[in-house]
Amino acid sequence: MTVAVASKSIVAIRICLNGCVQGSGVRPAVARLATSLELAGSVRNTLAGLQIEVEGPADRLTQFQSLLMSSFSSSAFVEQIHAAEITPTQRSKFTIERDSATGPLTTQIPPDVVVCQECLKEVNDPNDRRHSYPLSTCSTCGPRFSLIQSMPFDRDQTTMDGFTLCEDCRSEYESPSDRRYHAQTIACSACGPQVWLADANGECLKAGVAAIIATARSILTGKIVALRGIGGYQLLCDATNCDAVGRLRQRKGRPAKPFAVLVASLTEAQRLAFIDDEEGDALTDMTNPIVLLRARAGDVAEAVHPGLNKLGLMLPSTPLHAKLLENVGRPLVCTSANREGEPLEFDVPDAETILAGIADLWLHHDRPIARPVDDSVVQVIAGRRVTLRLGRGLAPLPLDLPPARPQLAVGGHMKSAIAWHNGSQAALGPHLGDLDTVRTRERFAQHITDMSALYRFEPEAAVHDLHPDYFTTRHCSESDVRTLGVQHHFAHVVAGMLEHGLLDREVLGVSWDGTGFGEDGMMWGGELLAVDGTNEYRRVAHLRPFGLHGGDIAVRQPWRIAVSLLSESMADDAWIEQAASLWRGQPVASLRKMHRQTTNAVSSTSVGRLFDAAAAIILGIHAVQYEGQAAMRLESVAASSSEAGYSLPFTAGQLDWREMILSIWDDRLAGVPPAVMSARFHRALAGGIVAVAAQFPELPVVLAGGVFQNKLLTELVVELMSDDRERLKLPGKIPPNDGGLAAGQLAIAVMRERASQRSLQITE
Ligand SMILES: [Zn+2]
Ligand SMILES: [Zn+2]
Repeated sequence: MTVAVASKSIVAIRICLNGCVQGSGVRPAVARLATSLELAGSVRNTLAGLQIEVEGPADRLTQFQSLLMSSFSSSAFVEQIHAAEITPTQRSKFTIERDSATGPLTTQIPPDVVVCQECLKEVNDPNDRRHSYPLSTCSTCGPRFSLIQSMPFDRDQTTMDGFTLCEDCRSEYESPSDRRYHAQTIACSACGPQVWLADANGECLKAGVAAIIATARSILTGKIVALRGIGGYQLLCDATNCDAVGRLRQRKGRPAKPFAVLVASLTEAQRLAFIDDEEGDALTDMTNPIVLLRARAGDVAEAVHPGLNKLGLMLPSTPLHAKLLENVGRPLVCTSANREGEPLEFDVPDAETILAGIADLWLHHDRPIARPVDDSVVQVIAGRRVTLRLGRGLAPLPLDLPPARPQLAVGGHMKSAIAWHNGSQAALGPHLGDLDTVRTRERFAQHITDMSALYRFEPEAAVHDLHPDYFTTRHCSESDVRTLGVQHHFAHVVAGMLEHGLLDREVLGVSWDGTGFGEDGMMWGGELLAVDGTNEYRRVAHLRPFGLHGGDIAVRQPWRIAVSLLSESMADDAWIEQAASLWRGQPVASLRKMHRQTTNAVSSTSVGRLFDAAAAIILGIHAVQYEGQAAMRLESVAASSSEAGYSLPFTAGQLDWREMILSIWDDRLAGVPPAVMSARFHRALAGGIVAVAAQFPELPVVLAGGVFQNKLLTELVVELMSDDRERLKLPGKIPPNDGGLAAGQLAIAVMRERASQRSLQITE
C-alpha cells in the first residue's frame, strides 16, 4: 500500500483503513507514530473505518507507512487499506478529529474486550490512582458493542457520554504519551461509573471497594448475588457450596442445565479442568468466552454440572470480577441473570424487580448498557475453536458476503439470533434466547430495531425458516417487506459453507440436529444434502424415519422415542416387560400398542432424537429437564476406546438404525458397561457419515447442525476421515446450532440475489 513519493519536498497522503479499526486504540497509535516522526495531519473514525491524512518529507512518510500496521494493538483488525497522494495543506501538527457521520456504515462495530493485563496491574497497585477501581478500561480494552449508541466510536456516542472527565482523566486523554490517550471509555473512581451493593429493597448497603468486600463475605455465607457485568447481570454464588448452588437452581427454575464457573486465573482453571494449549488460548483470549472443558474431580459442587464430565470455565471479564474473586478466594458459579426462559436482565430497575426472589443481593454499577449481550460459549473440537453461543466478545460477527440489498435473516425459534446486511456489510448478531415468552419476543423485535439503527439501514427483505409456527416466521409474514422461506437444514449447511468460503461450490452437507421443518412436512434432523452453491439442495440421504409420538412430550421423555425405535426393530414384544422396569414403570406396553395402531405419530429423521433414544436405553434415562441433556450425558459417559462401532448400514438413501438399536438392547441385557455402549454408538454415527461421504468422493463434507457440538462424535468423524482430512469442514466461528441459522439464511438470500442480477445482465 506504500505510495512512492518522488522528491524530498513536502508531500501528503490519505490512508483509509477498514475492518475492526475503532475502539481498539488505532487513532492514538496513529497519532503517536506521526508525532514521533514529526509529521503533521489528522486521523478520524468514520462510518467507513478510519481516515488518516499525513504530510511531511517524503522519506519520513515512507517510514510512517512501513511502521503503521505494526503500531496497532492485537484487538485491531485491518481488512482493507487504501492509500493515495493528496495535496499538502501546510498543516503544523497532528490531531485526532471528529467526523460528521453521514452515509452508510461500512466499517465493523467492535465487540467488547476483556480487561487487559495493564489495567489489571494498575487496579492491583496500591500506588496507582486507579487502585481498586473496578470499572477501569483503556484504549484497547473494555466494553464496546454493549455501550455504543451510534457509530463512529466516540465517547459522546456511547453510554459513557453522561460521565464528565475529571482533570486527571482529561490530562491523560489529551497526552499522546499516556496509554489512555484518546481512550473513549476513560474513567476513574473520581469521575467514572461506580459500583454499589443493594439489598432486596433496593437499599444501598455499601459502595466502591467496601461493596466488593461485603459481596465476597455474603457469597462465602452462601448468598446469591446478581452482579451487573459488561453486557448484563450475572448470578453468582460459591461454586463449592452445594446448598447455595441447589438454592440457585431452585429459585431460577433451572433444575439441571449446567452452570458456568468463573475462576481467578488460568492456573486456577487448570486445577478444575484438563486444559490443552488451544483451550488455554481460548480461555485467555481477549474475547473472554466460557470454554467447555473436561472437568477434573475437585472442589466444584456436583450440582454445578450434574451428570456431565464437562465444565464451562471463564476468566474475569472486568476488574470487578477479578477483585471479587480475589476476596472470595474460590470459584464462583456465574450464569446469566434471568428467570429460566426469560431474556437476560441488564438494567437496574428490571434486575431488582425481576430477579427478586432469585438473588439475595445486587452488585450494581451505573454505566448504562446500550444493549444486552450474554456471555459467549466455545469448545475446542479437533484442535479448532467452535462457537456454541455467540455473545459478548464475539458479537457482532462479520460475515464475508458481497454487497446486497439491505435485509434481515431472522433465524429459528430456539437459540434465536438474527443476521443482517446493511447494503455494504453483513453480520451475525448475539444470542437472544428461545422465543417462547412474551419478553424474549419483545427483546427480539427491539433487537431488530436497534441493529437497523446502529448499522443504518432499512430492511427491504426478510429471510425466515419454513416452519409455519416459529415466532420468527410469523414475525416476518406480518411485516410488509419481501420474504423468503429457507429450509432449516439447508440453511445450516450454507452457514458452514460461508464459514469456509465455499458458497459457490458443490458440497455434501451433513445437517444433523434436534429438529427442523422438512419440505415434506416431516420433522427432519438427520439430513445429508448435496448442496450446489446456494441455489439448490438435493436430499441424498437421511436417517431412517421413525414415529414420534406425543411431539414435545417425547422430547422431555426420551423413553417414548426408544419405544418407537424398539418397536420397529424387533419382531416380538418380549422386550416390553424389561423396558418397563428399565424406565421405572413408564407405560411402555400402552405406548407400544399405540405404536402398532399408529395414526397420530409425526414421522422424524432427527439424529438428536436418536441420541435421546440411545441414552434412554444405555443410561436408563426416562425423563430429561432440558433439550440435549440425554445426548450430553451419553457423550459424558463414553469410554475413550477403540471399540468397534455398532452397525449402521447405508442402504437405499437411508442410514438404517434398526440393527444398532437391537445390538444396544442386547448389550444392555448382557450387562455391557454404558461407557462401551456409548462409545460404540458414537462410532456408528461417525461411520455412517463416512459411508455416505464415500459416495461423493469429490465433494467437501460440511458438518452442520447442533449435533456437531458433540466433541466425541465430531472428533471420531475426523479420525475416520484422517486420510481425507482436507475435504472435511468443521464448524468454527458461526455456531453449528440454531444460533448460526440466520447466517446461512442470509447467505442464501444474498447469493440468490446476485445470481438473479447476473442472469438479468445476461438476458439484457
Ligand atoms: Zn486496558
Ligand atoms: Zn477521572
